[in-house]
Amino acid sequence: MSDLLVTDIGCLVTNEVTIDGTPLGVIYDAAFEVTAGKVSWIGSRSEVKASDYQKIVSANGKSVIPGFVDSHNHLVFAGDRATEFSARMQGQPYAAGGINYTVEQTRSASNEELRKNTVALVSEGLSSGTTTVEIKSGYGLSVADELRSLEIAREFTEETTFLGAHVMPTEFKSAPEDYVAMVCGPMLDAVAPHAKWIDVFCDRGAFSPNQTRQILTAGIAKGLLPRLHANQLEPGEGIQVGVEFGAASVDHISHFDDSDIAALANSNTVATFLPGAEFSTRSKYPDARPMFAAGIKVAIASDCNPGSSYTTNMPLMIALAVREMFFTPEQALWSATKGGALALRRNDVGHLAVGAKADFSILSSTSYLHLAYRPGVNLVEQVWRNGNQVS
Ligand SMILES: [Zn+2]
Repeated sequence: MSDLLVTDIGCLVTNEVTIDGTPLGVIYDAAFEVTAGKVSWIGSRSEVKASDYQKIVSANGKSVIPGFVDSHNHLVFAGDRATEFSARMQGQPYAAGGINYTVEQTRSASNEELRKNTVALVSEGLSSGTTTVEIKSGYGLSVADELRSLEIAREFTEETTFLGAHVMPTEFKSAPEDYVAMVCGPMLDAVAPHAKWIDVFCDRGAFSPNQTRQILTAGIAKGLLPRLHANQLEPGEGIQVGVEFGAASVDHISHFDDSDIAALANSNTVATFLPGAEFSTRSKYPDARPMFAAGIKVAIASDCNPGSSYTTNMPLMIALAVREMFFTPEQALWSATKGGALALRRNDVGHLAVGAKADFSILSSTSYLHLAYRPGVNLVEQVWRNGNQVS
């Protein structure tokens, strides 16, 4: 007996290329079974064998998609920066320094306040279809505050990232090498048990390529896996450094050239675009087409953070990627699901196939195309994780 049958699915996106020869692996008039939180059978509705199910859910002819895998987020912080956003919309440029304001607010917040804010943001993402979320530290920037940020992040996800190298904290402005030494030493020692990933903001006003190398090397030696914030604010070595270290993903990549494409094309590193950051900083959107043309694996994520992208909404990221970055609707949906899973080196999420986690959303539309076609409209009707309805 299976726990659950989801049936009468007008259009089921599986991300299994073997099904219809396209990356989305669409099955029309589909159904699937769930046993112990995992997909145990998937196919055409007409092939469902009459059997016992504890529960049967009808999608009423609508679309079902894999849960979004939002692979880049900063959710442990206090306060907001609405005033900074307003000033930016009136012409002030975005700079990495605003992060230090959130650092002050975060340091003076209690664990309970930080946890409450994180709960709210994770639930917000869940209600718009995000079933796997990555969470970074990076607003503590002291040993104790980075540690508690990661302890809180771990309560919500196994995809936790140590980002002590987010920005140079104010008190280390005149001694940046001392801060790098602290990140690589006592801070890393304290946080390593609570983090899967190590990340560095490698960009103008943040950390140099050589500081980035030093920090990644230390993190890898402690058993963490590398990923990077790269080439958001200007062209630079970030993408190449990421590839050099075998990073699972290089994120932002608002600036890239042919040598960056060549490096990525010969690697296992995913190129993660964060269209919410361009939106919220009114920056020029990169054109993703050369990445797809080179066969590079691409992800999109919401980059939820209080400074440069205060949203958890993956459908909005899909709409922006399509409208502003020249993704096709199919490429955008794949990048928000399977692409995000690859960026986290996960095989069990981001697709629907036998053995995968039963993480999926039922949309209110008959086609997944509506995710890009109807921006700003909540099309996610039901969200299920591990075979249980969670929203
Ligand atoms: Zn970020």
